[in-house]
Amino acid sequence: MFIIFGTRGIKHTISESPVLMNSCPNCSNGSLVNKLYRRWFTLFFIPVIPLDVVDRFYECNNCKSAYNEKIKDILNQSQAVQENVQHQARYTYARALVAAMTHMSVIDGDFAAEEEREIMDAIEQFGDVKPELMQVMEQVKRDQNKDNFVFNLLNEARNELSAEAIMNILAQAGVVLLADGIIDKSEENLMKEYLIACGLPKDMYRTIIDKLQTKNIAEDEIEEVKPL
Ligand SMILES: [Zn+2]
Repeated sequence: MFIIFGTRGIKHTISESPVLMNSCPNCSNGSLVNKLYRRWFTLFFIPVIPLDVVDRFYECNNCKSAYNEKIKDILNQSQAVQENVQHQARYTYARALVAAMTHMSVIDGDFAAEEEREIMDAIEQFGDVKPELMQVMEQVKRDQNKDNFVFNLLNEARNELSAEAIMNILAQAGVVLLADGIIDKSEENLMKEYLIACGLPKDMYRTIIDKLQTKNIAEDEIEEVKPL
């Protein structure tokens, strides 16, 4: 008999941490729930042994936006400060997303029209910073990850936002990989390189694929009872 073992990241709700009611800066009426990602050792795809915590963050129960835990302090500040932080966070997210999408598109040496359309759709969601995002796309098209340009943008997002935001970026960017229907081995390796570049364990790859496939609607969650 084969024994199939592995590791994967699972999202948990930190039940003893208070929910920040109706305070999502993105959608205003969503509540922020404190969550964490823990790596689990799995046997036959069933999590059996809890391993380390990868990231703690807040997630909106309405729009699913993910925030660095610092959001708790920011919510106590003035409206102007909150708006400024939110604007900066959106910009960081968008730049990392466009860089990763473009990089994934050009890595095989061919920038398909379908891929360009996906990237332009993403850019259109952030209309107010469209010129800056077009610049990011042009630079990655031309120089790819030269001087770690793409990795640095992802790292910036990791520091400013959360690991969950990075995985949302990679799942959203992964749409261009799925343009041809499958994710091949070299594309899988690229995703793992992104994770490692951001200081995240490469077994979070599975979590990204799950997000990509379910579009983050169905969640495989377990209540976190005893944080280590
Ligand atoms: Zn929200």
